[in-house]
Amino acid sequence: MPRFRGILDELPAYRPGKAVVAPDGRSFKLSSNESPYDPLPPVVEAVAAAAREIHRYPDPACTRLTEALAERYGVPQEHVALGAGSVTVAQQLLETVGEPGAEVVYAWRSFEAYPLLADLAGVTSVRVPLAEETHDLEAMAAAVTPRTRLVFVCNPNNPTGTVNRTDELVAFLDTVPQDVLVVLDEAYHEYVRDAGVPDGLRLYADRPNVAVLRTFSKAYGLAGLRVGYLIGHPPVAEAVRKTMVPFAVNALAQAAAVASLAAEEQLLERVEAVVKERTRVRDGLLAQGWAVPPTEANFVWLRLGERTMAFAERCAADGVAVRPFAGEGARVSIGSPEANDALLSAAEDFRNG
Ligand code: PMP
Repeated sequence: MPRFRGILDELPAYRPGKAVVAPDGRSFKLSSNESPYDPLPPVVEAVAAAAREIHRYPDPACTRLTEALAERYGVPQEHVALGAGSVTVAQQLLETVGEPGAEVVYAWRSFEAYPLLADLAGVTSVRVPLAEETHDLEAMAAAVTPRTRLVFVCNPNNPTGTVNRTDELVAFLDTVPQDVLVVLDEAYHEYVRDAGVPDGLRLYADRPNVAVLRTFSKAYGLAGLRVGYLIGHPPVAEAVRKTMVPFAVNALAQAAAVASLAAEEQLLERVEAVVKERTRVRDGLLAQGWAVPPTEANFVWLRLGERTMAFAERCAADGVAVRPFAGEGARVSIGSPEANDALLSAAEDFRNG
């Protein structure tokens, strides 16, 4: 029997969203915050063209994509580091700080992968409870100790969709010691419409210990290809590059991401449609009597407590897959209008039933 690290017995499970199918064949996957749209033709064409070269290794430096991102955001290329999904970049960041006794501070509940990645990297998780479904930045600042090496601030927060605004975030960043890396996880940034929510790229610029994490999986619709990136000062970006498994970002993913930036206008129109649907879904749920926190992401959060699993089952009966967190609540992605209608109808039925 091979001997594994003891931590493997205790790792928290990452439960990916699964599709469900109703008896009548309907299936709406609202459990993984994906884009509901098919890929754009130029993106599919770029992938097909890249497929003709798959007997070659990909460009390990992701040169074209790095250039495209640097140009898009007006940052130096040395500030950009790519990874196979932003979750992998988060893992690499934890590995860069992972030494005995190191602590990572994050809000809870937040992105499910943080505790898993922290355990894997041998970094102790310090979870700070949300206050009114939102990061409690004062409590998070108080949780920072001399052992803290990393802080994740998920803005908007997964799974609540709530945000922290500029003033409180700046005040927070000003109190965190300079030798602690603060990662602003902005996986859902493109869906934000609240003008009070900062663009992390403005906050990191004059703060060497702050970096921004973004992804092509959500607004850009490339979840299946796995591309994410960090924008931070050169030592941070360099640390991510050093900890990347060679060739982690494959050639199809690089080509698709470059093509997506070129087709950004169309992709952001789709984001706008999702934002409109988000308002319709939340208003519909509020009208049914649900308490739904204001959301700036492509999902809504229903705090259902003990009724969470029953709600997920009721939705599944109509082919609607949601993401339940047993005993806490359910996160429901904004999908196509048809999927959102199915969710609203199941939710209404559940309330009346
Ligand atoms: N950060 C947050 C807050 C997320 O919700 C997700 C995806 N669920 C990720 C990072 C990772 O996304 P990806 O690895 O697909 O880039």
